[in-house]
Amino acid sequence: LIISVIGHGYVGLVSASVFSDLGNTVWCVGRDPKKIAELKKGNPLFYEPGLAEVVQRNVKAGRLKFTTDYKEGVKESEIIFICVGTPPAEDGKADLTQVLKVAEEIGKNLEKDAVIVCKSTVPVGTNEKVAKIVNKFKKSNVSFESASCPEFLREGTALSDTLHPDRIVIGAETEKAVDLLTEIHKPIQGELVITNIKTAEMIKYAANSFLATKISFANAIAELSEKVGADAEKIMEGIGLDRRIGRKFLYPGVGYGGSCFPKDVKALIAIAGQYDYDFQLLKTVEDINEKSAMNFINKIINHFKGDVEGKHFAILGLAFKPNTDDMRFAPSIKIIEALEKKGAVITVFDPIAKETASKVLQNVEFADDIYECTAEKDAAIFVTEWNEFKQIDLAKLKKSLKSPIVFDGRNIYNPGVMQKMGFIYYSVGRK
Ligand code: NAD
Repeated sequence: LIISVIGHGYVGLVSASVFSDLGNTVWCVGRDPKKIAELKKGNPLFYEPGLAEVVQRNVKAGRLKFTTDYKEGVKESEIIFICVGTPPAEDGKADLTQVLKVAEEIGKNLEKDAVIVCKSTVPVGTNEKVAKIVNKFKKSNVSFESASCPEFLREGTALSDTLHPDRIVIGAETEKAVDLLTEIHKPIQGELVITNIKTAEMIKYAANSFLATKISFANAIAELSEKVGADAEKIMEGIGLDRRIGRKFLYPGVGYGGSCFPKDVKALIAIAGQYDYDFQLLKTVEDINEKSAMNFINKIINHFKGDVEGKHFAILGLAFKPNTDDMRFAPSIKIIEALEKKGAVITVFDPIAKETASKVLQNVEFADDIYECTAEKDAAIFVTEWNEFKQIDLAKLKKSLKSPIVFDGRNIYNPGVMQKMGFIYYSVGRK
């Protein structure tokens, strides 16, 4: 098949790479000529494990092509995936500017009957809006059908998630669209959920909001556990082994961040509001999330009796989660800003996110490894659970610090071990 993918971010480039790797010809369309030139050379422009190899392999084979020219990019395609960003607007709603602009460009350049598929996470009714715009701009002799195929990949494991998804959701209104989308996903093993467009649009928001709810639930239990003297990690193990609940996403910590959960929870609250439903549950999920980061910040400030002015802290881990360099809505930003506001001096280390972080963190010093970061600092603060932090040499860490104080925002270490080694150790939801 000949396919177009509009957008070359996490969703666009990963989808384009996988579909081309499966033998299709894929045109990936972007706006910035400099970025397109880099992509043509096989540079993915962001860090995602294994992605560079797949991009390079398919560029070389001539199956994966990049262009800024919509005419070239969509003219032969049977399926066009819209994979552009839907960031949060000021009022919490999804900002659809990119999606609607792309709809116009597709309409103007459509030369062959096609299925136009929204992979971007979009509010109910967006596919209808896209269809209206395409209709307005398209030539009269071409026709198209709409479909919604929400994306569930996770940054850090995007390739394997795309090749082995738990499910593939196809929202469509015609047999032809269902058949074409079923065919393109055939080599991918995953349960098919076939439904109408509005339901598919809702599935994505419902999924992310549910996962965010699990995280906030774990954090609420963690806060209570600290008060009653229980161990939240054991509680999560104790409840998570119940298969109805499941072990995943029940990790107490500094709260969720990233480019999806904060914006999708906000957007679903806004969608609900538009339909006169007050989604109180999700509003509380957001409040608990804010509080989780604040509780962690307060632990640091309270340890120093409210005065962190001139204290030097090492922040370990910046990306919103391991195995990505994505800094969008990363909890590390909130924590660093709060400490800097109180006059603390910050040195940071992240195994991958240095470049992306340097664009959003102006006043911090960047270290090149863990121990350079912690050298002579008043405390080490762990914010992202990178594997290399799990393997850390604790004796070396202790020696490097000015005072052996560790604030562990991801419960990476064992409290008993840390205490035995002489650390003053704080974590989340455990004594
Ligand atoms: P991103 O910000 O990484 O990428 C967006 C891309 O769209 C960029 O390459 C940008 O240049 C391009 N773009 C914007 N306007 C364009 C235009 N007019 N023409 C061509 N290209 C244009 O975004 P992302 O993280 O890939 O997310 C895309 C969508 O998928 C969002 O709706 C997001 O919520 C959803 N999603 C993201 C993830 C994730 O983990 N990142 C997972 C599932 C779903």
